[in-house]
Amino acid sequence: RHAMPRPARRRLMTVANQKGGVGKTTTTVNLAAALAMHGVRVLVLDLDPQGNASTALGVEHRVGTPSIYEVLLGEIGLVDAVAPSTASPNLLCVPATIDLAGAEIELVSMVAREQRLRQALEPPMLDDLGVDYVLVDCPPSLGLLTVNALVAAEEVLIPIQCEYYALEGLGQLLSNIDLVRSHLNTQLHVSTILLTMYDGRTKLADQVTSEVRQHFGSTVLRTVIPRSVKVSEAPGYGQTVLAYDPGSRGAMSYVDAAREIAARGALMERPTPDGPQRN
Ligand code: ADP
Ligand code: MG
Repeated sequence: RHAMPRPARRRLMTVANQKGGVGKTTTTVNLAAALAMHGVRVLVLDLDPQGNASTALGVEHRVGTPSIYEVLLGEIGLVDAVAPSTASPNLLCVPATIDLAGAEIELVSMVAREQRLRQALEPPMLDDLGVDYVLVDCPPSLGLLTVNALVAAEEVLIPIQCEYYALEGLGQLLSNIDLVRSHLNTQLHVSTILLTMYDGRTKLADQVTSEVRQHFGSTVLRTVIPRSVKVSEAPGYGQTVLAYDPGSRGAMSYVDAAREIAARGALMERPTPDGPQRN
């Protein structure tokens, strides 16, 4: 196992796509596990009331568990909701309970409703945790929870499923990201696009892949995540696919994707004659 480079500065990445079932949660937990297993410290914030990321990371998320919900409401500090993941000692998670389903409405009347997560992450809150990456798993909507995640992050990672209608809705996501950038968070940019559930037997998968690459260029990771039964089975065991079947193609492709992301992070901070490597 070769260690992956740790970024010079903490990276905050929001995994977003308002379409359900495109691989947001799968990508969040498996990238997090891949980084963590290679010496990088990662904190996952579960921002989906379903709590699927919490489940896959082996983190308790019954009602009553300190969670991201109480953090957003300002009732507890973020560190008070952090729980260790069974996936790796380098991996931490703030779980989501079903209470979070109400937050989308409850936040509406709150002060600075779009900035609750950013405020919860403000220094020195994360400093004692020593995490290199914060990955935020978003719900399948563009509501206030996703807006909070976009306001709190610097980078957006968009998983795109290699299927029919893959690009449908993407324009709306990108324009919301633009809106957040111009009004609430000038740092925000789409740093990473990951193609998921690639089925090599279909011509369609290749069509989607080349269309996305043509459109988004080097923002798209070279690594593509294959459609694999192991990937879909793992959460049923409260595991990431890296733990469930480390030798599977699904697991190995998430390690490759994590390595690419970590390599970009290492470049990000290094001044070059051409300026910083940003999209
Ligand atoms: P989202 O969080 O965007 O709603 P999920 O990550 O939950 O999407 O994935 C949707 C479903 O597809 C889940 O049942 C998941 O296990 C399955 N899945 C995700 N990625 C793959 C893959 N590469 N191969 C097979 N099944 C996958
Ligand atoms: Mg999800």
